[in-house]
Amino acid sequence: MNKSVLIRGGTVVNADREFRADVLCVDGVIAAVGESLTAQAPAGCSVVDAGGQYVLPGGIDPHTHMNFPFMGTTTVDDFYSGTSAALAGGTTSIIDFVIPNPKQPLMEAYRIWRSWAEHAASDYGFHVAITWWDESVHRDMGTLVREEGVNSFKHFMAYKNAIMCDDETLVNSFRRSLELGAMPTVHAENGELVFLLQQEVARMGITGPEGHPLSRPPMVEGEAANRAIAIAEVLGVPIYVVHVSCQESADAIARARARGQRVYGEVLAGHLVIDDSVYRDPDFTRAAAHVMSPPFRSKPHQEALWRGLQSGQLHTTATDHCTFCAAQKAAGQGNFAKIPNGCGGVEERMAVIWDAGVNSGRLTPSEFVAITSANTAKLFNLYPQKGLVAPGADADLVVWDPSGHKTLSAKTHHSKNDFNIFEGRTVQGIPTHTLSQGKLVWVDGDLRTVPGAGRYLKRPAFGPQFTANALRAQVEAPTAVER
Ligand SMILES: [Zn+2]
Repeated sequence: MNKSVLIRGGTVVNADREFRADVLCVDGVIAAVGESLTAQAPAGCSVVDAGGQYVLPGGIDPHTHMNFPFMGTTTVDDFYSGTSAALAGGTTSIIDFVIPNPKQPLMEAYRIWRSWAEHAASDYGFHVAITWWDESVHRDMGTLVREEGVNSFKHFMAYKNAIMCDDETLVNSFRRSLELGAMPTVHAENGELVFLLQQEVARMGITGPEGHPLSRPPMVEGEAANRAIAIAEVLGVPIYVVHVSCQESADAIARARARGQRVYGEVLAGHLVIDDSVYRDPDFTRAAAHVMSPPFRSKPHQEALWRGLQSGQLHTTATDHCTFCAAQKAAGQGNFAKIPNGCGGVEERMAVIWDAGVNSGRLTPSEFVAITSANTAKLFNLYPQKGLVAPGADADLVVWDPSGHKTLSAKTHHSKNDFNIFEGRTVQGIPTHTLSQGKLVWVDGDLRTVPGAGRYLKRPAFGPQFTANALRAQVEAPTAVER
């Protein structure tokens, strides 16, 4: 079944260029890219007519939470439903998160998440969160990098009294990441300020979802981004800031990059097109459905994020797909701080960003590929297995119809969630076909995913150049004190 697929007559788009070519996929990998490959296609080869369409590397979403136990409940999407939704939208790989509870051994949490992910329909990898520190964490980080193919560690600077990482843990883990050639990543929000502001907002009598953004203003994010970047600079380690949502943190990244620091920023599709007016919706269910952290921001912040992507100061796009249904969100009736944080989007990201980014002229198709797959593949060491249409790469591909339309809705999406933050938005530019490991899994609205078909992606550590900034910091450090 579908051992080979020929995609004929399309325009291949990579991050560096676009060109007319057929793409032949055999046994899960791209066998050939070139003109008129029909003669080379094996007998029984499936043929996809891509005339008038683009052929893109499958999307990579580096920020999802499937099957995630959080704030007293568990997300409705598991690894199968979540990756199926992803494939329906043209995303063929996810990088999810192993999140140990404080004091839980890292390897124990890692094995639990790996078992949950066995049902995934698409390929997947894991970042591992560092939520506490001792000698065993130091040791297990080494095991994860050297034996398990984890090359990135996540640090929550928010969620006090839960998974928040203090500066001591941050410093220890950044130093260890540097030693191992792994990328430290941060959720940048000052958890102490959020904790205080949540109480102050409640004391003002604001208990509904409109209190959520008031307790997490942009400078709370800006402070944490600046602090994490400063710590990374002192230690000489690269750093990746997840879900940059506002001007303050985008500026922090741009300033550091101008100083020559290796700092990378991720933007969520939702933050690019949804603004904070959603929290003032009088309907609790709708407002609470948008509660995630960092929250949606006012429109000028959206513009700052687009400018960051256009200028290359921000690098990747993701969704933070983390789905809680209305019944779960209801836990925060009367106390916005108890609304489970998270929104969906893994299926919609590609179309939303194409529609708002490429159709508007902000991005070229190649720039779209850069921020939806290629940059992520490079930063997390999956390139060129992923993020590139070329012989030898995985046959994870999307046939993209730039004139196709769709109205996004919870009624038609493939997530198990009962709400869609993009509800009613009509997008132009949609996937007609998705190939995962060379198999057609989405064909004109027909979803053919298979539980367990996804493979775990091992991501090797970075090489010695990774520490170049550290060496520079050490060279600069011992300057003589002159009196
Ligand atoms: Zn997240």
